[in-house]
Amino acid sequence: KIWKDETDIDDTHILYFGKKDNFWEMGETGPCGPCSEIHIDLGVEHCSKKNQKNHQCQVNGNCGRFIELWNLVFIQFYRDEKGELHKLKDRFVDTGAGFERIVSLLQNRDSNNYLATKFQAKSQKFVSHLADNYTSDLFLPIIEQISEMSNKDYSFNNGVSHRVISDHIRALAFSIADGVMPSNEGRGYVIRRILRRADWYGRLIGLTNPFLYKLVDTLIQIMGDQYYELKEMKKHIELVIKSEEERFNITLDRGLRKFQDLTVGLHSGDIISGKNVFALYDTYGFPVDLTRIMADRQGLEIDEQGFQKEMALQRERCRKSAKFQICSDDFLAGKDIEWTVYFPCEKTEFVGYEQVKADTYIAKYSIDNQDNVRIVLCQTPFYAESGGQVSDTGKIYNQECSIEIQDVQKQGDLYIHFGKLKKGEINSEKMIAEIDESRRKNIARNHTATHLLHSALRKVLGEHVHQKGSLVKPDGFRFDFTHFQQMSKQEIALTEEIVNQKIRENLPISVHIEELDKARKDGAIALFNEKYADKVRVVTIKDFSNELCGGTHLNATGEIGIFLILSEESVAFNVRRIEAITGEQAYKIVQNIREILQEFQYRMRTPQDKLIEKIDKLLLANKRMHQQLERMKLNSATNTLDKLFNQARVINGVKIISGEVKVSSNNELRKIADALRNKLDSGIGLLGAKINDKVSLICLVTDDLVDKYNAGKLVREVAKIVQGSGGGKASLAMAGGKDISKLSTALEHIHSCIKYK
Ligand SMILES: [Zn+2]
Ligand SMILES: [Zn+2]
Repeated sequence: KIWKDETDIDDTHILYFGKKDNFWEMGETGPCGPCSEIHIDLGVEHCSKKNQKNHQCQVNGNCGRFIELWNLVFIQFYRDEKGELHKLKDRFVDTGAGFERIVSLLQNRDSNNYLATKFQAKSQKFVSHLADNYTSDLFLPIIEQISEMSNKDYSFNNGVSHRVISDHIRALAFSIADGVMPSNEGRGYVIRRILRRADWYGRLIGLTNPFLYKLVDTLIQIMGDQYYELKEMKKHIELVIKSEEERFNITLDRGLRKFQDLTVGLHSGDIISGKNVFALYDTYGFPVDLTRIMADRQGLEIDEQGFQKEMALQRERCRKSAKFQICSDDFLAGKDIEWTVYFPCEKTEFVGYEQVKADTYIAKYSIDNQDNVRIVLCQTPFYAESGGQVSDTGKIYNQECSIEIQDVQKQGDLYIHFGKLKKGEINSEKMIAEIDESRRKNIARNHTATHLLHSALRKVLGEHVHQKGSLVKPDGFRFDFTHFQQMSKQEIALTEEIVNQKIRENLPISVHIEELDKARKDGAIALFNEKYADKVRVVTIKDFSNELCGGTHLNATGEIGIFLILSEESVAFNVRRIEAITGEQAYKIVQNIREILQEFQYRMRTPQDKLIEKIDKLLLANKRMHQQLERMKLNSATNTLDKLFNQARVINGVKIISGEVKVSSNNELRKIADALRNKLDSGIGLLGAKINDKVSLICLVTDDLVDKYNAGKLVREVAKIVQGSGGGKASLAMAGGKDISKLSTALEHIHSCIKYK
């Protein structure tokens, strides 16, 4: 009615359709309502059912001529589980028109030769696909590039691969620019699957090497002006896609081989067992959707139920192994040991942020016959291992006894101190707990340094860097973080420099407790996958770092002293690890390096700035000497050969050269044999050498004689004399032997071998 009354649209173009076509629902339940659609008539040449008899083109007639361009849904009902409609309190119009479709239609109007001019040379190819959503300059440059890379036109297999890839590369680039990283869960898993699907469709048109990342540049040329983040993140997007592709290719190749193995002997209609599908998935990382596609292409089916069953079993196994952990917690809590209880307190109060020493009471303790003690205190300055920071050590004592504490673990709200009774007996509950303060300070140096490093990495590498884990000890720390490739030398140097600069600035460190939501809003960095209470502890390094953290820290960054990165390496896919040291440890290393350098200068008699040059010179000189030595060896070998030639004998018309040579390896022996063959027009040669108290023999027969004499047989015959054996080809063979005293006899024996053959 509105169309008729309010617009000047030709009445014959306004059509009524019933519930089937003009009622829109999201799903079985949910908001819904009648809709009004705008269709466009592309002209009779777009009818895809021309060949069908009695076909009449019409709106909603499912041929290619009329296509929907725009939908207006008048959302006013809610359908409940019983299928009943309820009027919604708020009613609205939901309008949707596909951007790609509109662009495609505009650019494909008959009067508009836009595409034809822009893609002149190749425009012919697209004619048959005019007016699909991909036929616009939003996609064509990408489709073109895919065609070029694969040598397969857009017409190949109806362009399915081209379309899937050009669609998916957009989803990938935008998601990654938004900070999503491929992973095994949540949205990371979604883009991983999208990437794998695109790569798979690439395989179908012969693209076996990583190729998706090469499309990013083209995509950015199309959309980069409107979506500036794409331009900014270009390098990042390309690298993430490329490394994921490389990884997937390995998985794919391995999985494909395994798939072939598993399906040998299966015929169309056969079913791949759930066990095998699971093996592909679990052991070879081959995604189930791909197994399904592969199976489908060979007319095979997969046992979905069997697969789900295997998955359930797998989950069960995981659950069981998780239970094992709980068992060890029981052990930790000492559930099976006898406790002596003084104060039945339910919570150990941690006072270690402010104090290194505290007057306290024993809540309970246990001791075995080797004086191993577990002791729970009401208050403690001991930090229990958590958040990657190791526990404090120290002692718990009073006038009657002293316990040395090596480890502290949290069990619920209780802190269990593990140690050894060193003196006296535990007779009263009042105790002094005191931690090793200098060790604590070193731990704090390293912990504060992890926070500096974290922020520095985000500055140098980008905001995608997130902490994945850490281990903070008194003598150094390691820090795991998300990043998709090895850090360059420059990146490492820059990161180290930034941290040291922040140390020199001696930034104050403050700690406060606040609401989790507020902390997040203030931009405090939280650990991935970590659960936090409502109130959180925020550690702030002035103007540089803001992290949720329960660890013990310094008062100012200057106390760290020096920060040195020792190594950077991969620990898992897209996870890098930095190992670093601070304070005294770092200083000692610098001292050590300086000493080595000084010693080096002294021995080389060269000032420090000339050392490299000097080493290069020495290496070169060494190489020259080596070459010279080789030449001399060869010369002396040639001399030996000349001598042997002079002593050559002729038996049965065959020239025989036999004798001992001086070499230090079988390799050299072979080289001399080669030289001998070059000199010898026709004949048989036998060379022997003593190498490491063993005999080596090599026998050669020139090509014209191999029909009559076999080097392998000859060398075996001769080797018997030196208690050895060997073999080889008819023209060249080697043997080894134990008895070096018989070498000359063996070399002589060749003559009788030929004579009596
Ligand atoms: Zn039609
Ligand atoms: Zn921390």
